[in-house]
This record gives sequence, structure tokens and C-alpha cells, in this order.
Amino acid sequence: MNIAGDKMFSHIDRVTGEHKPITADVFLTNYCNNRCPYCTYGRWELDGGVKAMTYDEFVTYATRLIELGVQGIILTGGGEPTLCPDFLAITRWLEERGIHYGINTNFNKLVYFKPDYLKVSLDGYDEYSYEQARGVKKYAEVVKNIEAFTEWRRKNSPKTSVGIQWMATDMVGVLRFYDANRHLDVDYISFRPLESTGGKYYEDEERKAEVREIIAAIEDLAEQDSRVTLNFKWNMLDWQEKDCTAQWAQIALNERGEVMYCCHKPYQIIGHIMDDDILEKKERAATDMSMCDIPCRMTAPNMFVAQTMRDRKDPYFI
Ligand code: SF4
Ligand code: SF4
Repeated sequence: MNIAGDKMFSHIDRVTGEHKPITADVFLTNYCNNRCPYCTYGRWELDGGVKAMTYDEFVTYATRLIELGVQGIILTGGGEPTLCPDFLAITRWLEERGIHYGINTNFNKLVYFKPDYLKVSLDGYDEYSYEQARGVKKYAEVVKNIEAFTEWRRKNSPKTSVGIQWMATDMVGVLRFYDANRHLDVDYISFRPLESTGGKYYEDEERKAEVREIIAAIEDLAEQDSRVTLNFKWNMLDWQEKDCTAQWAQIALNERGEVMYCCHKPYQIIGHIMDDDILEKKERAATDMSMCDIPCRMTAPNMFVAQTMRDRKDPYFI
């Protein structure tokens, strides 16, 4: 998947015209097989209240999403999407209809399917670092799964792009992650910053210095290996618009089909996807921007839309 901050340029018609959602994030489960300390969702398979979306529910919701204008669906969490019992039936349904879809996964479970993109949060370079980041010792298994999948896709799904990502917290880790995983036949290796409420994590001066080192290390690697990408969020660590002006561009559903304000705010339910007036409800909904994750994947789209909305003096004279 192309991790770029300028994708709204592909949707100028929606920016200036009817604000229909472009991408849907769909949570297929609310449980997971990892224990990431930073997880927003924090519910495990053994807890009460676990729920996975069924095939029939998915088909109903996805049909509605497409009617509303959605062009691409991201299967994500919530919990871990591959754990959904109907996962393969759901992906087959999407594939048979040529619907663009991608998946964000920890890939602890090996499954063969044909998304546009498969993004694996690998987050480690050995068992210890993996356990530190994800609470379980599954590094070797995930690497094996990626190897098996990339081997399989060569013949069966060459258009699927596969990427790995690491939430980079220090420069040495960036180099270790790259060294340990560069042999994988992936299309991109992404290093992402940590998202924290209000961007508090990067307020610290020491961390700001670390960020400069991390960016320099990623840029060095990118010169040697074109698969290495600097996630655009690294340059937006302290940036937030006053409002989430591009929130209409995404729609996020939990495993019950409830629409969340965004995928970062599973606690703010604004309606159900089957509500007749769900887009109006979405347009009307307000959110507490002090509770936002910074950086956020909507930071760049928000900046773009805010620029288009700005009043300009004497627009008649270019
Ligand atoms: S893999 Fe995702 S859903 Fe699972 S614990 Fe980690 S952050 Fe949470
Ligand atoms: S966290 Fe904030 S900026 Fe990001 S999508 Fe949600 S409301 Fe918008």
C-alpha cells in the first residue's frame, strides 16, 4: 500500500462536491491474539462480550457501504481480523466482486487470500523485541507466515502488495528491524511513529532528538533500498487541525456494524451503518479533538481539506 499524505488529490470531486466516504475501516472482531501495550481496544478472546462479524452481516454492511460511495475497504481492528471465523468467506466475497480491499494484520495466523494489500505489523526483530511490542512470542512464526504467503502470492496473487511495518522508537531498533527482516520478499518496509493522545509522547525534548535520528536512519536506508519508506506521519508529529474536516472521507464500523466517529475512537458511536440517515448523522457529529491520536492518518487529509475551505481575499485575481 502506498503510504502517502497527498491522496486527497485523487478525490477533488468529493472535496468540492458531495462529501461521500472514500474508505471504510471494518472491524471483523473485537478480540485479538496479541497483547500490545498501546492497544486502543484491549479486549482478548477469553473476555466476555467477544463478537465477530458474520458473513451475512458483512455482506449486508459492505453492500450498504458501497451504495454510500465507498471505494476501498480496510479489514482491520478492533481485534485481529484473520481470527474472524468467516474471514475467508468474506474475503472471497470481496474478491469475486472486484472490490478493492486491504488488511492490517499481525499475521500470527497464516491465511491465503487476495487483497490489494496486506500490511503486517511485524514490530520486532527477534522474539524478545516482538514480545516487548506485542505481548506474545510469535516473531519467528510471523516471519514464517510472511515467507509462506509471499511465496504463494507469486503464483496466485501477484497484484497483492505486501508490507511490513515497525513502530520505531529508537534509531538502533530501525537498523535492527531492517537487518533482521530485509530478506523478506515484501514491497515496502515502513517505520511508523507512535500515536498518542494529544501527541504527548513526542512532547519530550529527548524524544524529539530521537525522532531526528530515526528519520535520518530511515532516509539512509531508503537510499539503499527503495522498499524502505518514511511514513508521512514523521513530519506531522505535532500537527493537528482545529477540526477533523476530512472525517467524511472515512467511515469506520465496529464488529456490530456501529459507525464510530473514526477508527481511533471506538468509544464514540454515532449510529449504525443501516440507519437511513447515517451520513447525515456523521456530518452532524462533533468530536473532542483533545482526545485525538496524534499523528493520525487523517492529519494530512484534514490539512488538505482545511486549506480548500479557507477564505481567500480577491479570488478573482490570480
Ligand atoms: S494486534 Fe492490534 S488489536 Fe491486537 S492487541 Fe495489538 S494493537 Fe490491539
Ligand atoms: S483521531 Fe481525531 S483527527 Fe484522527 S480521524 Fe479521529 S477525529 Fe479525526
